[in-house]
Amino acid sequence: MPIYEYEPCSGECRVCKSGFTLTRPLSAPPVVNCPLCRQPVRKLISAVSSPKITKPLSVSAAKNAGFKIFKKVGSGEYERQ
Ligand SMILES: [Zn+2]
Repeated sequence: MPIYEYEPCSGECRVCKSGFTLTRPLSAPPVVNCPLCRQPVRKLISAVSSPKITKPLSVSAAKNAGFKIFKKVGSGEYERQ
C-alpha cells in the first residue's frame, strides 16, 4: 500500500502540527482534512518507491489522534486494540 505523507499545517493540533503519514489502499479517497482537528491538509508526493524512512507515529500517539488500530490476530481476522 502506498504511504501518503502530509505537510504540517499551521494549527496546534498534535497530528498535523508536524506533519504525518498515512498508509491507505489505492482505492481509498485521499485525506483532505486532518483526522483530528479537521483542518485542511496538503498531501506531499507519495513515497511509494522512495527509500526514505519515515518514522511512523507510535501506536499510542495514533490512538490519541483518533486512529483506529487493528491488530491482525489470524487469517482474515483483526482485533481492535
Ligand atoms: Zn490536525
